[in-house]
Amino acid sequence: MGLLVQKFGGTSVGNVKRIQSVAKKIALCKERGNQIVVVVSAMGDTTNDLTSLALEISNDPPQREMDMLLSTGEQVSIALLAIALNEIGVHAKSMTGVQVGIVTESSHGRARILEIKTDRISNLLEEGLVVVIAGFQGTSLGTGGTSEITTLGRGGSDTSAVALAAALNADACEIYTDVAGVLTTDPRQVPEARLMSHISCDEMLELASLGAAVLHPRAVEIARNYGVKLVVRSSWNDEEGTTLTSQAKRPIGKEGLELGRPVNGVELVDKQAVLGLSHIPDKPGIAADLFEALSKGGVNVDLIIQSTHEGNSNDITFTISQNELERTELLCQDLIQKLGGELTVQNDMSKLSISGAGIMGRPGIAAKFFESISRAGVNLRLIATSEVKVSCVIDSNIGNKALRSVCETFEINQNQIKINPTVIDTKEPEVRGVALDTNQAQISVINIPDIPGSAASLCRKLTESGICLDTIVQSERQHESGGRTISFTLSRDDRKLVDDALSTLLKEWKGSYLIDGIAIARISSVGAGMPCTVGTAGRMFRALANASINIEMIATSEIRTSCIVSENDGTKALQAVHKFFELNNNSVRSGGSS
Ligand code: ADP
Ligand code: ASP
Ligand code: MG
Repeated sequence: MGLLVQKFGGTSVGNVKRIQSVAKKIALCKERGNQIVVVVSAMGDTTNDLTSLALEISNDPPQREMDMLLSTGEQVSIALLAIALNEIGVHAKSMTGVQVGIVTESSHGRARILEIKTDRISNLLEEGLVVVIAGFQGTSLGTGGTSEITTLGRGGSDTSAVALAAALNADACEIYTDVAGVLTTDPRQVPEARLMSHISCDEMLELASLGAAVLHPRAVEIARNYGVKLVVRSSWNDEEGTTLTSQAKRPIGKEGLELGRPVNGVELVDKQAVLGLSHIPDKPGIAADLFEALSKGGVNVDLIIQSTHEGNSNDITFTISQNELERTELLCQDLIQKLGGELTVQNDMSKLSISGAGIMGRPGIAAKFFESISRAGVNLRLIATSEVKVSCVIDSNIGNKALRSVCETFEINQNQIKINPTVIDTKEPEVRGVALDTNQAQISVINIPDIPGSAASLCRKLTESGICLDTIVQSERQHESGGRTISFTLSRDDRKLVDDALSTLLKEWKGSYLIDGIAIARISSVGAGMPCTVGTAGRMFRALANASINIEMIATSEIRTSCIVSENDGTKALQAVHKFFELNNNSVRSGGSS
């Protein structure tokens, strides 16, 4: 017995029969004595169909009108489900986002939830009703105080459901969908994908933002931040599905439900060495050879970065703990003798990181981080980004100064700072899941001045135009003028905004210019056990090399390794990596998966 929020996705309410069977499922759960709030998506492909109608009329329809249009999809399904429930004797009432009071920011098409008024829902629950709420939509106060219908972004009904669960202090939020739960990868691409019995919110946040569409990343962010118990399971049966593990429940602060502090930890790790291999051949298998050799030598590599290459050579940079430097240098020298190329080594470096939930999904956080470091007069040597952590490698002698500046910026207290934390072996799998994102574009900004503040200015300008950056990679190689290249990936829809966003900076930075990369796909592996396992990245590179796939860019963060490959290789890469890590349903493997 308890208060449950149950969300049913588009396919689950795709026709009248399915709506009736969802109603029966809810009725059974109600009979067991639970109070139930239901969140539904638009039926089947309704949201896509409505979007196509608008695009038949205009290439660039006003966002306000798109929200007005798309929000009607969910209004149809709440009414039909409430009718179906009443028909089988379950008293139910439907409500739109406006009627509930799901108050959001005013940014149409991607609004974040600020507050959910719970009075009306609680009263109806007390009266014994099931409350059926339209997902994906809310209401802003608009400019001048007029309320406007807003939407949360595609896939946003998951976010509505988890936010309602947090606001109502529900016992659990159950996401019912058309698959058995969270699988090791998308079963549409890899039919052998295996169901996981559990996954941590951090791992899920990474997977969701790297292309695993089964959950909206912002839903996971809310579950993590407020300790909502979140379960993903099938609409078609009563199997248990996947449970997301997070910390204990926390109350919602005054900052706004989805605006709560995104950064809740800062970490400084010193005695790091940065090794750069430049001008090595650009062909499948090189990264695999290098990192396999290091792994055999027992070296635990931390960050790995490979930026776009010029001509037919590549640069790979990575960090290790300084006390492994001697061995590592010898192994690299060996490889260079066989392959050609140059090795540079820098020790006395520190890694400074911010951690939290949904960092890269919020334009502005990475920019603020880089700005606070540059205010301390510190130049960034390397950058690594992910949804739960952004790290910079900087000179050790200014590490503490940069740390203070970052803590001030994000109002971090003493308890949230970790200095040289020890890596604990949690016995979690090195790779729990794999995701493919084919909606990314890659851009490089060539010849950026190598001085404090450049990366910060670049991120700030992109942020001001509302662009969310994904992977950001600063290359090893310097141009003749001393400038560097920063490459980044972003959603393809945002590509059209980049030229305008960067035009003033490019004029300021003499000799700098933009180039577009080839059509890309990003393949990522995620696992909480990655930091304490030697050689995971090398194994992923080997899986790609065995499938004759060339790697265009590499970016790692604590619990994930991402490779950019050409678009045509995307699915092949996903299948190869999934199989290599023995995630296929028929592979024998223990830990985390059921
Ligand atoms: P809903 O309409 O219920 O919200 P979605 O289509 O948004 O459903 O999400 C479910 C789909 O997500 C599945 O049909 C599956 O193809 C896809 N998917 C992608 N990655 C994964 C994964 N790791 N585990 C499960 N499903 C995944
Ligand atoms: N109907 C919306 C969409 O298709 C929201 C959702 O389904 O989560 O994106
Ligand atoms: Mg969905």
